[in-house]
Amino acid sequence: MKNNSKNLNKKYILQIIEKYQTPLWIYDSNIIKDRILQLKKFDSIRFAQKACSNIHILKFMKENNVKVDAVSEGEIERAIYAGYNPEKDIVFTSDLFESNKLIKKIVSLNITVNIGSINMLEQLGKLSLGHKIWLRINPKFGYGHNEKTNTGGENSKHGIWNIQKSLYYIKKYKFKLVGIHMHIGSGINFNNLKKVCKKMIETIFNFKQKIKFISTGGGLSIPYKLNEKKFNVDNFFNIWDKTRKKISQYIGNPIKLEIEPGRFLVAESGILVSKVRSIKKMGKKKYTLVNVGFNELIRPVLYSSYHHISIIKRNKEKSKKMEKTIIGGPLCESGDIFTQTKKKMISHRLLPKLDIGDYVIFHDTGAYGASMSSNYNSRPLIPEILIENKKFRIIRKRQTFKEMLMLEKI
Ligand SMILES: *Cc1c(COP(=O)(O)O)cnc(C)c1O
Repeated sequence: MKNNSKNLNKKYILQIIEKYQTPLWIYDSNIIKDRILQLKKFDSIRFAQKACSNIHILKFMKENNVKVDAVSEGEIERAIYAGYNPEKDIVFTSDLFESNKLIKKIVSLNITVNIGSINMLEQLGKLSLGHKIWLRINPKFGYGHNEKTNTGGENSKHGIWNIQKSLYYIKKYKFKLVGIHMHIGSGINFNNLKKVCKKMIETIFNFKQKIKFISTGGGLSIPYKLNEKKFNVDNFFNIWDKTRKKISQYIGNPIKLEIEPGRFLVAESGILVSKVRSIKKMGKKKYTLVNVGFNELIRPVLYSSYHHISIIKRNKEKSKKMEKTIIGGPLCESGDIFTQTKKKMISHRLLPKLDIGDYVIFHDTGAYGASMSSNYNSRPLIPEILIENKKFRIIRKRQTFKEMLMLEKI
């Protein structure tokens, strides 16, 4: 097993499979707790819930003093349902308000808004004088583990380009400015980070407004591959801490440091458990087909992401023989392949020889796994299981066909 988790061991996984059948997601709350503790030097941790938005995960975050970010009306609803106080604990981050109904909800619940466009200032200000806001700045350059996750520069739609333009509205509508936010993209490179911090300092010096917080955004990476290094949290903190101190000296009041990770907190806590249902040779290539598809886990297809794969033999024997195999799912799509690389869609893994009925486990799928899954090919959503205090419990039921069809029964 890849995860350094006492809970995600074969014996335990088999017990869970026996009770709930495959396919399913499993999360180990001990790992989430450990990652929260790794970030304790930050004044405030805010979970970017889009990475894993199950309300039981949100409740766990809340119990551990982690605040929450919401990027949609649905995510606001989830956070409230999980017990978060809208006024104190939730920040809504977006580049637009999708509807006037959403603005009214945000105003009536007094939810702080992390503003990503000048239009938002005008739309919010008209309805709510003195509303609490953050400004999300586009630093005019970006970085991401993939072009699709780059969140800065001209090639990104995120954040405000010219912060000076916000001043007019801040005065007009008496907004209370909480802080300045920069989320640069997923996967942090420390050379790039120094540029980001420099930009943060420059921006705040030129802007000359009182603030209480700066936010580092998220983007902290995790070791998806076995030989990858762990993210250096201390290094990350120290660079930001220096930045905070410079800004604090300039502004003349203490500045608090907020961090806003998604992936870092939950990715390694989760696995996706599937079962081998078909093994076939196509010419020289071997395909092992399992009972999950990219409607469950889309990262390999969307970003050519790597997920470590391990296996559990059905009859618990140890398989000695290693074999190259492509791992695919049941979708009626040629691209429904989990073992893709950046260069090749049909690539393989070297795995112990698999037989029908064996289990295939996709590791580090706690972030952008279940939260990105869909009903494509009319496949119902699969269950989520949480391990907490040495016990496991179901935190999302398997969707039934009836539930899947319900909305269309007009
Ligand atoms: C997605 C997102 C994050 C989290 O990104 P990770 O790479 O999962 O850490 C943080 N902040 C904002 C505004 C985001 O949209």
